[in-house]
Amino acid sequence: MKTKGTKKPKVNLVTLGCSKNLVDSEVIMTQLSGGGISVAHEMDGSAYNIVIINTCGFIENAKQESIDTILKYAEAKKEGWIEKVYVTGCLSQRYREELQDEIPDVDAWFGTMELPALLKKFKANYKHELIGERITTTAKHYAYLKISEGCDRPCSFCAIPIMRGKHISKPIESVLTEAKHLAKNGVKELLLIAQDSTYYGLDLYKKRNLAELLDRLSEVDGIDWIRLHYAFPTGFPEDILDVISAKKNICNYLDIPLQHASTNMLQRMRRGTTREKTELLLEKIRLAVPDIAIRTTMLVGHPGETEQDFRELLAFVEKWRFERLGVFTYSHEEGTRAFHMKDDVSPEIKEERANELMRLQEQISLGFNEEKVGKTFKTLIDRKESGYFVGRTEHDSPDVDNEVLIDASKHYMRVGDFADVKITEAREFDLYGIPSVNK
Ligand code: SF4
Repeated sequence: MKTKGTKKPKVNLVTLGCSKNLVDSEVIMTQLSGGGISVAHEMDGSAYNIVIINTCGFIENAKQESIDTILKYAEAKKEGWIEKVYVTGCLSQRYREELQDEIPDVDAWFGTMELPALLKKFKANYKHELIGERITTTAKHYAYLKISEGCDRPCSFCAIPIMRGKHISKPIESVLTEAKHLAKNGVKELLLIAQDSTYYGLDLYKKRNLAELLDRLSEVDGIDWIRLHYAFPTGFPEDILDVISAKKNICNYLDIPLQHASTNMLQRMRRGTTREKTELLLEKIRLAVPDIAIRTTMLVGHPGETEQDFRELLAFVEKWRFERLGVFTYSHEEGTRAFHMKDDVSPEIKEERANELMRLQEQISLGFNEEKVGKTFKTLIDRKESGYFVGRTEHDSPDVDNEVLIDASKHYMRVGDFADVKITEAREFDLYGIPSVNK
């Protein structure tokens, strides 16, 4: 329905990129709705007249997706379907100057720290009393909890510090307030996120304080699962391993992007560590929490990566067998330290290496999943889809890890509930199971 003249604002908020961006969108929604403005997340149809696009500016593909989304809504505005288009987030933070000339149909551009200015466009003020409250866009029973902003690390390939600035930890009390608010609203699983969660507290408390934060969060009523993402290997606070193994409601799960294994590449990537130190850390983690599922991320095709480096990475992954692994191909990002290096690994080789690594991981993941057949796991039911109830064990994070599928034509499960599920079949990245009457 084409809009005529200005109507009461009805906002559609579109989020691109990572879970940290999703939390930012949820904060924008909370502030807008707190200001009496009707807002919804990623609405279909056209029951809105203003669009806010929260963009990602991390790597080439993500940037292109953001630009395509902006152009789509700029076109809709030209055709009179919507009145206003506002753009915020990392891409806007990084390329505002260029983009505002290239896409003049966008009404205003905002950086990653300019929420009050965005709210002004709606004649709304930033409400401090809403801090700690949040409208979530995830399933009601889990939510992301951002514990800090920005990053102080010098990783050669990464543009995030350019877009998100220096590391700023959120005070423990405000993280706890947010967690309690989320729990009161039915959240059972908290996913702790940051650019570098293991740096937590160094700026604020002059010490790594993640262990205390985890311990205090584990005391919040109603929270059954706490999951730690984005740990950094260098300067890893080993005291968190004691808390993870001691606290039943902290998942035996750790997401720790390692990016590579060859010391030559770890040094070129300015990761501040070596293969030997990485292996020592992995040994300590496995020893401290034997049942832990380790998720990691590897980056292939970084400038200077030789075939020998890549073979070493493959052998490392084969030796250490990560329960969960993702791989990125290097993207030559201006403003990063690696941008001054020659991007000497061809796109084809990058792709080949990523595929070869994932083929190896498929076999490793299948091996782990086959070991689960016949066993029963506490499973959180996330949704019903294509004739199955879909859930996750404590070893699986939403959207990135394995899922447990229960045939909905034979069994009834309640979304948002935990259930004991006996695994009957294993695939590379999925498990099939039935509700278990007795554990
Ligand atoms: S830790 Fe490294 S890769 Fe991660 S956000 Fe910081 S600079 Fe980027």
